[in-house]
Amino acid sequence: MSVRVPFVDLRAQYRAIQAEIHAAIGRVLEEAAFIKGKYVEAFEHAYARAYGVPHCIGVGNGTDALFIALRALGIGPGDEVLVPALTWISTAETVSLTGARPVFVDIEPDYYTLDPEHAAARITERTRAIIPVHLYGQPAAMDAILELAQRYGLAVIEDCAQAHFACYRGRLVGTFGSVGTFSFYPAKNLGAYGDAGALITADDAIATFARKFANHGSLTKHEHELEGINSRLDGLQAAILQVKLRYIHQWTARRAELARRYAELLADLDELVLPRIRPHCSHVFHLYVVRTPWRDELQRFLADRGIQTQIHYPRALPFVPAYQHFGHRPEDFPVAWRFQHELLSLPLYPELTEEQLQYVCQSIRDFFAHQCRQFLRP
Ligand SMILES: *Cc1c(COP(=O)(O)O)cnc(C)c1O
Repeated sequence: MSVRVPFVDLRAQYRAIQAEIHAAIGRVLEEAAFIKGKYVEAFEHAYARAYGVPHCIGVGNGTDALFIALRALGIGPGDEVLVPALTWISTAETVSLTGARPVFVDIEPDYYTLDPEHAAARITERTRAIIPVHLYGQPAAMDAILELAQRYGLAVIEDCAQAHFACYRGRLVGTFGSVGTFSFYPAKNLGAYGDAGALITADDAIATFARKFANHGSLTKHEHELEGINSRLDGLQAAILQVKLRYIHQWTARRAELARRYAELLADLDELVLPRIRPHCSHVFHLYVVRTPWRDELQRFLADRGIQTQIHYPRALPFVPAYQHFGHRPEDFPVAWRFQHELLSLPLYPELTEEQLQYVCQSIRDFFAHQCRQFLRP
């Protein structure tokens, strides 16, 4: 059998909605509504409505959304912000960008999100905020995190870049903290055709600051009330996102269905740990991440069969060169340290076919049935 399975196939989705996308882009071009304008406003309203919050502010990308949120909360030099050890670097680098210090927290072994107990142990009198990341599409332990935030007076920013419309106890993630931040990077669950991002909040003051700060410190042209940055959602991306927003629930349901199929077909493999869904939560499976001590061998075996996989992330943040100056050791983050060698993301996107999924699962079974033996200790 020669089935090729890419890690993600953005063209398949584009083809399915091509006519609507072209019409939407055509309207923006006809009206030259490139920066701000009615398409950006329409998307911001639709996204805020979908989340049941009063404010959505479209920005340039998900990294800027985090930076703007931190600045809106007044985070700066001398402050410390708790961030998970396992996440995309944006979560930590934006803290440093404000002049504050990112303080890494180990992850929960079952769910891979920030461990609230370890977070409690890392709190000092300088700690001002905590950024739970709903990693891979799985909600973080919000009850414990909110309790911690309450007890120590910490602001909560939820990094929802991988978790569009995931729910924790029936409530959408992104609506628990002071701010929820989103990325619409093309491969995210809700993806633009370029860089794009947004913040959502119920706080009027945060919303006003974010809008100002993201637009050179001004709400009205040439009235710069403060120094800001240029980080705007553009009209083309907004119009594209507005089309895609109509499909997101359908796509998320398909992701969940594919995850269920993976679980059915791989459940009996002892050497492979499958993703667990936190009780009372919906996982939106931005990524389907399995774990095995034979990760590198399995990845090579699958590549030879035409199956692309990825690693999220090959190194936990405390161990990347950018954070070497903190001098962290493996024993400071034992779970993240161990798992960075074991995590493997399998192909999962709404257009993945049952045939492709079965081929991936059969190949994994073949690996553990035959190939793996030579790596097993006697
Ligand atoms: C993608 C991502 C970001 C950054 O989003 P960009 O739009 O690429 O800047 C931030 N945090 C997490 C967890 C992400 O996965």
